[in-house]
Amino acid sequence: MQFLPEYSWERLSEDEINHKTLLSMKKHISELKENSAHYKRKLANISPQDIKTMDNILSLPFTSKDELSSQTSDFYCSNKIAETVVTSGSTGNPLVVPLTSTDLARLAFNEQMSFASIGINAQDKAQIMVSLDRLFVAGMAYYRGLIALGVNTARIGVLPFEMQEYYIKLLQPSVLVGVPSYFIKLAENLKNCGKNICDSSVKKIVCIGEPLRNENMSLNDVALKIERLWGAKIYSTYASTEICSSYCDCECRTGGHSHPELIYTEILDDEGKPVADGEIGEIVVSTFGMQGMPVLRYRTGDMSFKVAGNCPCGRNSMRIGPVIYRKSQLIKYKGTTFYPSTITNVVDSLGCCEDYIVELKGQKSDDDSIDVVLHAVTDEKNLDAIEQAVLAAARVRVSVNICDKNKISMLRGDARKAIKFVNNRR
Ligand SMILES: [Zn+2]
Repeated sequence: MQFLPEYSWERLSEDEINHKTLLSMKKHISELKENSAHYKRKLANISPQDIKTMDNILSLPFTSKDELSSQTSDFYCSNKIAETVVTSGSTGNPLVVPLTSTDLARLAFNEQMSFASIGINAQDKAQIMVSLDRLFVAGMAYYRGLIALGVNTARIGVLPFEMQEYYIKLLQPSVLVGVPSYFIKLAENLKNCGKNICDSSVKKIVCIGEPLRNENMSLNDVALKIERLWGAKIYSTYASTEICSSYCDCECRTGGHSHPELIYTEILDDEGKPVADGEIGEIVVSTFGMQGMPVLRYRTGDMSFKVAGNCPCGRNSMRIGPVIYRKSQLIKYKGTTFYPSTITNVVDSLGCCEDYIVELKGQKSDDDSIDVVLHAVTDEKNLDAIEQAVLAAARVRVSVNICDKNKISMLRGDARKAIKFVNNRR
C-alpha cells in the first residue's frame, strides 16, 4: 500500500470524514481481531458490523498504557518488521515499537502532509536538529516526510552550538525542526558570543516535544521568546511513538490538525465520555493503517482539548490545543498539586542556563522541597527572578542552585532523553 497526498481526507466535509472513519474503524477492528493476540481476546464479542454510527465507537474497549507495556508482544500484528523504535521511557518503561515498511511510508505521508500544511515546499531547505538515531522515531519521521515533500534536508542532529551556527551559515536553511528549549539555548548562547541569529536565513521553526501555547491558544513565553530571538515563525507539533502520527499547526496556527485517514482522535473525561469542544480531556486515539503495533482507543494520558470551529485554511480535520498536562504527572505537594511542566516551562522560557533539572525531594511531608539545579548560568543575579517566576506560575516555592554538569547527569540517571524533572521523594 502506498500513501499518496491525494489520499488525504483533510479537505473533505465533516460528514464525509465521519463516513470514511466508520469504514476505517470496521476494517481496523477486523484486522486487530485477525492479527493481534491482545485484541483477539478483547474484541471476542465485538464484530466490525456492530459499528454503524460514530456513537457506536464509544462502546468499544479502551487500551491502557499498562496493557501496552505489560503485554507488549500481544499487540504486535506483523512479522515483516523493517525498523524498530522505542519510546523514551519518560513516563514508564521504554516500549519497543516494531514498524513495517508500510508503517514507514505511513509516517512519511503523515509528516509530508504536516509540513505541506505549514507551507513548506520543494523550494525550502530544512535542517533537522533532533536525534536521528538512538531508536527515536521523530527525527526519522521528519526526515522521511521532508524528503517525500521534495525538500532539501540536512540531518544535522544535536551538535555543539558553534557547529549549529556554522551549518546554518553554510547551508542557509529556511526551516529548522527541533525542541523549543534548545532553540532558546542556542540563540542565547550565540547572543552571548556577540552573534545575532535573528538575521539568519531561517523563516520557519517547527517545534516538537514541548508546548508552545497557553490554554487560551496564545503563544506562551517560550514561543514568543523563540520568535523574538530567531526572527522566525514557529509551528507546533504533537506526537508520540506509540501513535506513530502527529498533530501539526497549519499556516493559520490555530491548533494541531489531525490526519483523520491515519488516526481517529477522541477527547474524553475520566468516565470515558466525550467532553465539549474547548474543554480539557484525555487524548484517546485509534491508529488506522498501522501494521506493526496498531492500537484501538489508546489512552495517551495527555490532556488537551478540541479546538472549536473551522480553521481558515479550509482543512476540516479535527484540531487539538497544546498538551496542558500529562495525567500521570500530577504531583501532590504540601497540601496543593502542581504539574512539573509548569515549572520547567518557566525555566525554559527564561533560557538562563545551558542545562537544568528540577528535583522533588523529601518524604511526602511538610519538609518536602523542590530544587531547581542549573548548570552554566548566563546571569547569576537572576536566580531570585527564577524563584519568583516559578512561584507566580506554579504557586510553589523552589530553591534555585548552581551546580556542575555531573550533578545533573547523576540526577538524570540513564534516561535516554534529557529529562527536566525527577521525583526523588520517598
Ligand atoms: Zn488549518
